[in-house]
Amino acid sequence: MSAARLTIDLAALAANHATLKAAAPGAVVAPVVKADGYGLGAGLIAGRLWDEGARDLFVARLSEGQALRAALGGGRPARIFILDGLAGADAGALADADLTPVLNTPEDIARWRPQRRPCGLHIDTGMNRLGLDVDDARAAADLDVALVMSHLACAAESSSPRNARQLALFRQARARFPDAPASLAASAGVYLGAGYHFDMVRPGISLYGGGPQEVADDRFAAVATLEAPILQARELQAGDAVGYGDGFVADRAMRVGLLAAGYADGLLRRSMGRATAWIGDAPAPILTVSMDLLAVDLSQAPRAKAGDLVQLLGPRARLDDLAAATGTVAHECLVRLSARAERVGRG
Ligand SMILES: *Cc1c(COP(=O)(O)O)cnc(C)c1O
Repeated sequence: MSAARLTIDLAALAANHATLKAAAPGAVVAPVVKADGYGLGAGLIAGRLWDEGARDLFVARLSEGQALRAALGGGRPARIFILDGLAGADAGALADADLTPVLNTPEDIARWRPQRRPCGLHIDTGMNRLGLDVDDARAAADLDVALVMSHLACAAESSSPRNARQLALFRQARARFPDAPASLAASAGVYLGAGYHFDMVRPGISLYGGGPQEVADDRFAAVATLEAPILQARELQAGDAVGYGDGFVADRAMRVGLLAAGYADGLLRRSMGRATAWIGDAPAPILTVSMDLLAVDLSQAPRAKAGDLVQLLGPRARLDDLAAATGTVAHECLVRLSARAERVGRG
């Protein structure tokens, strides 16, 4: 390997899917593969999840739904929900690609009615993102409603009183559509208990290895592994600086490794001085990050040399730890992974 490589472990994906199914035994697990499968490749991810029994999928946009429909082809006729509904999308184009919009506004309802095709309904229960007011949803009474759903604002905090408030509102709202399956929980909601499962759960991040409570969770395996080789190891004396603008200044004699990875491969520049890479079982703190090169501290890996592989994200460099270190969420760390890193599928 000569530069950063991203390995996508489909066996780990299947294991995470099984973990979620076991956690919500009465519900359909409908994977969320928006944003190109959280940056990992929606066709690859959805194809494997189809093999694992997933027949319902969620994306955000019409274009994502069209691409996913093409990737799955005629042999894998999954039901694909479009979370953004008809916002900016042509109803005819949705119908042509056999996509199911999740309607979010009274205008969506009026524009979808002439299609006489199934739809989802998103009812806002207090997150104040997309969704119909409970009363506006009544206008959909004559539609073929295949799913009534809402989304939780604070599910990662199991003690938040907002969860129970949203649950109560959702129960009232879905009672108006007694024949339609219902869905409230994303990854975190699955772990709030069976009362939150309804007929379908919509996990995204935990399928990809992110902990539902936004901390590293051993029940979920890393799906994305980003590794890069050491191009050069360098001895520094106290006072020597590394990188642009003297980004790191050594306070002692030490060895650093220069890796063939950088923010062009999706590693956030904010990792500098905050995140940790791993060489086998030895931590290698990230010192500087530039476009194509990154420097790590080899103090704890004294035998590391040019050609050795360093893990920047994966089973040791946990996704949730990277997110916490860089002040973001696991979702953002994944979707930043760029197309430049060579990609390989495994399992
Ligand atoms: C993105 C999204 C999900 C999946 O959320 P995760 O936190 O990744 O599990 C589920 N439902 C809706 C409406 C979403 O926007």
